[in-house]
Amino acid sequence: MSTQESQPLIVIPVATPQPTGNPCLRCGACCAYFRVSFYWAEADPSHGGTVPPDLADDLTPVLSCMKGTNQKHPRCAALIGEIGRGVRCAIYEERPSSCREFGVEWAGEGVRFTPEDLARCTQARAAWGLPQIARASKA
Ligand code: SF4
Ligand code: SF4
Repeated sequence: MSTQESQPLIVIPVATPQPTGNPCLRCGACCAYFRVSFYWAEADPSHGGTVPPDLADDLTPVLSCMKGTNQKHPRCAALIGEIGRGVRCAIYEERPSSCREFGVEWAGEGVRFTPEDLARCTQARAAWGLPQIARASKA
C-alpha cells in the first residue's frame, strides 16, 4: 500500500522486538472488511491491467471489484492466511489501485498512515476484534 502524499501523516512506531516487523502481515483485516473496487480495465490485460481477471468481478459498467469483497462478509480472494495471525496478498505486485493507494505504508521504523485511512484501519480491525494498531504495536 502506498502513501497519499497530499495528506498529513501519522507515524505509529512499532515496538521491538516484533516477530514479523510490519504489523499488516499479522492482520489483513482491511482485506476482509471493505469492498475493494477499481476501474474495470485494471483487470483487463488487453488494456494494461495487472489484476488477474479470474480474481475480479463486475460491479457496474465501469467498476470491477476483487472477488470475494462484494458480499455480506467480505474476504478478498487474493488474501492468504488467517486474519489477525499471519497473512499475505497473493497478487501484491499486481494488486489494484485501490489497494496501492490505501494510505498505509510500512517504513521500517513504523507504519505511516493518513488520518482517513488510519480510521479505516481501526474500523476494519475492530470488526475482527483486533485493537487499534497503536495499542497493538505496543504489545
Ligand atoms: S487493517 Fe490496518 S493493520 Fe490491518 S492490514 Fe489493514 S492497514 Fe494493516
Ligand atoms: S488484492 Fe491484496 S491487498 Fe488488495 S484487498 Fe486483496 S489481498 Fe488485500
